[in-house]
Formats: sequence, C-alpha cells, structure tokens
Amino acid sequence: MSLWLSGIGVSRGFAIARIQKLHGGDLEAPEYTLEDDRVEPEIARFYSAVQRAREQLRQVRSQIPVGTPGDVGAFIDTHLLMMDDRSITEATVQLIRDQKLNAEAALRRSRDALTAVFEQMDDAYLRTRKDDVEHVCGRILRILLKSERQLPVKGDGPETGIIVADDITPADIILLAQQNVAAFVTEYGGPLSHTAILARSLGIPAIVGLRDARKLLRDSEWAIVDGELGHLIADPDPDTIAAYRAKQAAQAAYRAGLVKLKGEPAISHDGVRCHLLANIEMAADAAEATANGAEGVGLYRTEFLYMNRKSLPTEEEQYDAYASIVSVVKGPITIRTLDLGADKQVDSGRSQGPTPNNPALGLRAIRLCLKEPELFRTQVRALLRASRHGHMQIMLPMISSLQEFRQALALIDDVRDGLLREGHTLAQDVPVGAMIEVPAAAIAAPILARQARFFSIGTNDLIQYTLAIDRVDDEVNYLYDPLHPAVLRLIQMTIDAGVQAGIPVAMCGEMAGDPKYTRLLLGLGLTEFSMHPANVLEIKRIIRDAPVNDLRRRVRRLMVSTDIQEMQELIAGLDA
Ligand code: PEP
Ligand code: MG
Repeated sequence: MSLWLSGIGVSRGFAIARIQKLHGGDLEAPEYTLEDDRVEPEIARFYSAVQRAREQLRQVRSQIPVGTPGDVGAFIDTHLLMMDDRSITEATVQLIRDQKLNAEAALRRSRDALTAVFEQMDDAYLRTRKDDVEHVCGRILRILLKSERQLPVKGDGPETGIIVADDITPADIILLAQQNVAAFVTEYGGPLSHTAILARSLGIPAIVGLRDARKLLRDSEWAIVDGELGHLIADPDPDTIAAYRAKQAAQAAYRAGLVKLKGEPAISHDGVRCHLLANIEMAADAAEATANGAEGVGLYRTEFLYMNRKSLPTEEEQYDAYASIVSVVKGPITIRTLDLGADKQVDSGRSQGPTPNNPALGLRAIRLCLKEPELFRTQVRALLRASRHGHMQIMLPMISSLQEFRQALALIDDVRDGLLREGHTLAQDVPVGAMIEVPAAAIAAPILARQARFFSIGTNDLIQYTLAIDRVDDEVNYLYDPLHPAVLRLIQMTIDAGVQAGIPVAMCGEMAGDPKYTRLLLGLGLTEFSMHPANVLEIKRIIRDAPVNDLRRRVRRLMVSTDIQEMQELIAGLDA
C-alpha cells in the first residue's frame, strides 16, 4: 500500500526511483579517561584524524566538475577553514590534555559548546552555520571511530536512487551528485539548509525536514519525490507512477524547448526588446551565466571575496579577481561594491564591535564603506584598474539619500584621479549607479536619478524594509509579499523616475527571476531583469510570448485600483 509523506519541497523536479538510505547518522562516541602516558599519543591521533578529514575535503573539492555553480565549492572551502578553527581543534586538544579525555569525547564536547552558541543566534542564516560545525566535527569523529560513511555507488540504471538520510554534508552531496542521484530527502533542515541550497544549485529534486523518514521508509522500495510540493510517495500505485511519469516527460520537454531559446533575443511578442542578465557571486558562475544565454551580469556580489578568510583581500587580490571576471563576461557587468553587514556577516580580520540590535538597519553596505573609507578605497582602486578589461559598471548598495550617493561618488572620483596620476590605464567611462532597495531611495528616485547613471531594484531588501520584516527571520516569513501594493508602487515609482531621467532601470532581486512575476514586471515597464543564471531561459520564454504593450495598459489600471480584491484579480488575469 502506498504511503504519502510530507516535508518541505526545496528543489523543484520529480524523481521516480528506489530508496537508498544513508546509514550511520547518529555516532556513538565512547568516553573514557586516559592514562597519563596516553595523553600525547591521543592528541597525535586527533591531529592525524583532522589531517585525514582535510585531505578528504580537498579531494572532493578537486572533483567538482568544471561549470558547477560557484557556491557548491564555497561550502567545501568553509569546511576546510573550519578545520583550522581554534574553537574546534585547540579546544579539543585542551580537553584531551587537561581532562585526560579520549579524543572522541573531547571533540564531541567542543562541538556541543560551539553549536549551543549558534543555536542561540537570532539570525536564521547564522543558525544554519551550526550545520557546518556538525558536519565538520562529524567527519573527524567518523575517522576517529573508523566508521566512515559508505556512499552508494552507481546502480544498474542511469541513476542511483533517492537518497534518504538524517542530514547530508555538502561534500557527500557533491559526491552523490556525480553518481546521478535521483533526489535527496533529509529528516532535518529547512529552506536555508545546505542540502536545500546545494540541491537547487545542482538541479536535483529535494525534500528536507521529513521527520522519521529513515524509520518510515524501506531500503530499495520504489518511491516518488515531488520536490515542488514536498511530497514523497512510497510504494506508489501504477496510476500515480503513470501520472508522475507524464509530469516528468512534460518537464523534460519544457526544458528541452527552453534550451533552444539560448541564442534567441529576449524580444516580446509585440517587439519590445528586453535584456536578461545574471546574478553571480564568483568567477565560476560567469560560465554558467553564459551557458544559460545571459547577455551579461546585472549583479556581481563581491562579498564572497571577503568571506571565509582571516584577513581582508588586498588590492592586488581583488584586482586579479575582478580583471578575470570582467574579461570572461561577454557583455556588460555590473559590480556591486561591498554589501557587508546584516545577513552578510564576515570578519576578514576586521575588528568588530558588539552586535547591533538591528543589524539590517545598522552599519551595512555603503554606510559601512563610507565609515571605513580605506576598505572602500581599496575595493574601488581594484575595480577601476580592472575596468579596462571589459564593460564595467559600479553599483552602490543600500543607498538611502542623495548625500550618501554623492559622497561615494566623490570618493570614487578621487580614487580615479589618484590612479590616473599613478599612470594606470582605466576604462574611459565607468558608470556608477544606485541599488534601489530602501523605500527612501525609491520615493526619492527622481532626485537620485539626476546623479545616478542607472538604477537596479533590489527587491529582496526593498520588500524587507518596506514591510518591516527581517528577511532571514522564519517567524515573519509569511508576511514577505512581493505583490503588496506598497512594494508594487515603489517599483513603479523607481521605473518611472528612471524613464523620466533617461537612465536604465534593472531589477536584480529574486523577484526578477521568478516566473510568477514576469508579466506583471513587464507591465510595470521593466525591461532589464537580472537573476540566478538557471532562471534566464524560463524568463526569456515568458517574455517572448508576452504582449508587453497590452500588459502595460492592464497594469496601469491595476495600479490605480484601491480595491485589493480587484487588484488581486487583475494580477491573476495577467497570465491569461
Ligand atoms: C536585493 O536586496 O534584492 C539584492 C539583490 O541584494 P542582496 O540579496 O544581496 O541583499
Ligand atoms: Mg540587497
């Protein structure tokens, strides 16, 4: 008889395959006291396990296929860095030495102390860092216990099965992805968990938070995974299998159709030319962007250069990174200056004061850069020097006033003068634009448009600040609504201000890559969309079918409505 289970669908797609449970989730670590003369050998045993774990991770890192999205490797880099973290290694060695504890028990204690700190954090994203600690310590523990997890190997068919586990480490996900697993199902984790992020990046259907999955499912039984709805159907009946086979076929046909659009322009049904750009975070993503037919990069988040390291990146390091990325991107590339703070905390050796009560409203992004001009100057020098390698624009995040924009502009001009005096060759024109992600900037857009050469609407933050909901707080997630009339009006005001001033307006928040909103955004007058590279072809499909002029008329009507019911009906009607 079929068994229907529900978890959180975090990566779209369907799989029909056999269950393969990953065993060995819960590790029993023995605890005992060491004789005096066993202490030093125990420390040596611990260090050699850490070394072995490091080698394993380096090996996984080297196996990541070319063209894999950059965030996949970044997870492994984080874990490699953690292997050197004093709160894990030194704390454990100290426990072995001071309390004469065996290595397994000492490591378990330092892990528990560290995860307790992460659990108390208010920030939902930082709370997920607890997973990193557990994965890193779990790997070392398995080596100490000689109980390393055996991953399934490729079965008879083209795919291995549906992997069901308590939790899966990023390294195991990468190895399993190379075995063409059909889907991932984990008992723990939420939409921000590593499994969720990596599965989406790798395009593998996944369900997380499916409690007791290993207890309820049998090894080798057939099952269906619906990664969109979060359903797992064990032992499905023939009718359900047939229905899902049809869905799989329809999806495959749709995807095949999309691939054909790669070389086609993003011109609407009635001839309006649009531009589709990619959001990227590291050089490896640029290849994915081009492979998906993006015309350029609309947002390069530079924070990644500052993450997972103990010192700030030097000007030369940054220059190398920007120059290489600018030269590989065909078409324009918009590089956003540092957006540190709030949900993007890194230390990179910077001295940090006490955690502010409201980091999202505090010293982040351009505010931080203006407060620490040397940090900003170093980045701007590297950017301007790299500008001659391609078609670069500089974008300033979290602008909230004209004064702030002018101050940043003056600093950039000063850096440019200095570089020219030093004899550097720079691109003749590097437009500087503003990210519109604070309501104040959207409302004052006509004023900002006199100085900014372009706008890019960051809906992720614009929605957070407009609706006063912390974007990483699970408790208020349900309020996050891109269709809120206030959000739509701010988007419209920004687009209108850009049109009036004759400057381009793009959108680089998640909304731009969500097919649900494409026709509405076209109706609001948007023509530049920047998104995760994987979404480019789907959005192109919608644009090519869209009657933009008609959508604009219909959206104008809905934007003057004060009846929420009518607005919702008009929005729903845009799909027809
Ligand atoms: C945004 O806020 O919409 C945006 C694109 O920037 P980030 O998500 O990096 O804050
Ligand atoms: Mg933002």
